[in-house]
Amino acid sequence: MAEVLLTADRTLMSNYHNNEFLGFGTCAPPNFLPEWFYSFLFFPPIRESKGIPAAAPYGLRKIEAQLLKAGFDVLTVSPDHIEDYITDAKVLGIHTMDPFGLGPASSTLAAIFKKEPYLAKYFQMLLSNPAIKKAKKNGLKVIVGGPGAWQFKYRPKFVEEHGIDCIIEGEAEKVVGKFFRDALEGKELPKYYEVNVSEAPALEEIPDIVNPSINGLIEIGRGCCRGCEFCNVTLRPLRWYPLEKIKREITLNITSGKISGCCLHAEDVMLYGSRNTRPNEEKLIKLHEYVVKSNNGGLSWSHCSLAAVASNPQLFAKVAEIILQKQPWWGAEIGIETGSRKLARKIMPAKAHPFKAEEWPEVVKTGMGLMHDNRLVPACTLIVGLPEETEDDIIKTMELVDDLKHVRSLIVPLFFVPLGRLKQRDWFKRAELTNLHKQLLLQCVEHDFHWVDDLLDLSFRDKWYGRFLREFYRGFAGIAKRKVRQIEQPLVLNG
Ligand code: SF4
Repeated sequence: MAEVLLTADRTLMSNYHNNEFLGFGTCAPPNFLPEWFYSFLFFPPIRESKGIPAAAPYGLRKIEAQLLKAGFDVLTVSPDHIEDYITDAKVLGIHTMDPFGLGPASSTLAAIFKKEPYLAKYFQMLLSNPAIKKAKKNGLKVIVGGPGAWQFKYRPKFVEEHGIDCIIEGEAEKVVGKFFRDALEGKELPKYYEVNVSEAPALEEIPDIVNPSINGLIEIGRGCCRGCEFCNVTLRPLRWYPLEKIKREITLNITSGKISGCCLHAEDVMLYGSRNTRPNEEKLIKLHEYVVKSNNGGLSWSHCSLAAVASNPQLFAKVAEIILQKQPWWGAEIGIETGSRKLARKIMPAKAHPFKAEEWPEVVKTGMGLMHDNRLVPACTLIVGLPEETEDDIIKTMELVDDLKHVRSLIVPLFFVPLGRLKQRDWFKRAELTNLHKQLLLQCVEHDFHWVDDLLDLSFRDKWYGRFLREFYRGFAGIAKRKVRQIEQPLVLNG
């Protein structure tokens, strides 16, 4: 039995029916669907054998690879089978994404529905597992990390009550070995460790994953050069993986026999291999030709920027042609954030680059139009309640959403969460929603409602549960509209 166990909660140990977008369902609170049915539709448990999951979140696989490389005896286990392995373990590492539902999507839904989202509920269930509690009494150390690590600063009581010994925030490759070693040797651990930029690993220090990742997700690079004020990623240096490294990880996933598709992960897949904000044609085409040739399970992108698409329509069309040889569409998450030129210049001055920040609404319309024509389906985010946002800014965003009504897409408004260089600012709260905000929220629900049938048809044409997803979405959108309308207006006092 292994001395180091790794795991993540049930909402993360799922392949979301091979559709990463369905994972957003974990941000919703318990609702009118029975929990067992909801979890089946949105986050069915990953296949496993004797408690060992067939695949695990990519970030967890990276830490697993780093610890194995450093000589630890490590095993990644399903959260439903912790008790089968924990007796002999000395350290438990837990990967988190949004452990308290404070991320933009879940906190927005929690504010509207006034209920804790599923992902927070399942994270707490994992930490409350009696087997973990018992092992803690026998000296087990618990170390937590992952993209959701920042949230623990807001929950010090939870950290104490659940005996979390150490929280690591940031790219952990260069520090994780030391902390796990110290934990094994019973040495003191820092309660909260923020990895600084000088500790970020260089490309050659990032190990390849050694076991399959969920939905074949693999990183093609880290960091982002656009510098948006509200974003954590922007604080990290930009690094693109060489194609050979990417090929090795794809091969690992495919030869495992457990994974067929591939999701390319980067903050802007269109910029793969580039040194600035202009796509590198040769590298992008080579990457896609390889990925399409090497797998039969479909390809998706985690994120891409509208500016990179709009800056080179011919190249985007070429990439689309390669991808569409084997599938009818593909998806990516896209940040629109605002329709206001003034706000764009202030808080995301390089998001439109190589165009000017003032041209942002035109960049969005051009990029979205190209995506529609080339069958990339974007799940777009808007930020509601950015610091210094005015009524005029909200109106500009509403005008932009109106201009996008013919674009096959989802547009999701998210309440501002203080991250990146804006982490000292205040959270946007439900009580601050104005009438204009409410109109914007309703406008987005209407937009998504209009396109959802089309999207579900594309995604789940052959699946019997596609009908349920459609009905769920209709019911959920209806309730969301009612809840938004019910939000009372704040009392505005003049003078
Ligand atoms: S473009 Fe996206 S990833 Fe890059 S800094 Fe802006 S929000 Fe962050």
